[in-house]
Amino acid sequence: MSSTVYQDEVIILKVKDWQTADKYAVCFSRAHGKVPFIAYGARYARTTGGRLIQPFALLDVQLYSGKRLDSLKTCELIALPQQLDIKQMAYASVIAEVTEALTEEHQPQEDVYELLVSAVNLLVRNNPRLVALSALCKLLVLTGFAPVYDVCVNCGKEVTGNTFFSVVQGGLICEDCHGGEELLFDSGARKMLEELLVLDFNDPQPFTVRGGDLMQLEQILYRFIVYQIDKPLKSLSFLAQLGL
Ligand SMILES: [Zn+2]
Repeated sequence: MSSTVYQDEVIILKVKDWQTADKYAVCFSRAHGKVPFIAYGARYARTTGGRLIQPFALLDVQLYSGKRLDSLKTCELIALPQQLDIKQMAYASVIAEVTEALTEEHQPQEDVYELLVSAVNLLVRNNPRLVALSALCKLLVLTGFAPVYDVCVNCGKEVTGNTFFSVVQGGLICEDCHGGEELLFDSGARKMLEELLVLDFNDPQPFTVRGGDLMQLEQILYRFIVYQIDKPLKSLSFLAQLGL
C-alpha cells in the first residue's frame, strides 16, 4: 500500500491516548487546515517524536494521508513549547476547542493558524482571559460565524445606547425589538468587543477593561458559540471548576 506524505507546520489542539501505545491528536496546520491524525507508538518512551505531541506544541510534521485518518511519519519542534500554567492552559483549551468545533478538516486557512500561534504566545505574557476572548471574537469572524454587531439583527436599524443580544438570532437587538429573552449588551461591552476584534497579538496596546463589560461580553460570546456548535464546551466546565 502506498500513501502520500505531506509536510506542514502545525499547532497541536488536542491529544488523546489511543489503543495501547498510540496517540490521537488534532492539529491546525498552516497549509492544510484542521487535521486529526494518529501517532503510532507515540506513547512509548523511546519514540522521541511521540513525546513532542503535546497540546499547543508547535511542530514541523510529515503526515501520511490516510483514507479515514492521517498518521504521523516524523515531527520536529519548531520552537520550544510555551510553559503554560494551569490558568493559561485552561484559556488556551477554550481557544483550541472552539477552533476545532468551528473549522472543517483539510480546509486551509492560514489566518486561523497564525491567530492560534500568536494567541498562545500572547497568553503567556498577557491576561489570558482577555486574550482568549479576543481570539474567540477573531475566530468567529475568520470562520464566518460572527454575529451581527453593528445593526439590530431584527429590524436592521442602527443602534445606539443600551442594546441587547439574541443568541438565537445571532446578533444585536435594539430596544424596540427587545422581547425579554435577550442578554444585556450595553455600550461598554460593545466598545470592548471593538477593542478585542482589532487587538494586535504581536504588539498589543493597552486598553481599559471594566469587569462588568468583560463578564457581559464573555457571557454573550460563550453562549452564542455553544448555541452555534450545539454542544457544551468541556473547556468552559474546566474553567468553571477552576473558579475562573
Ligand atoms: Zn430592532
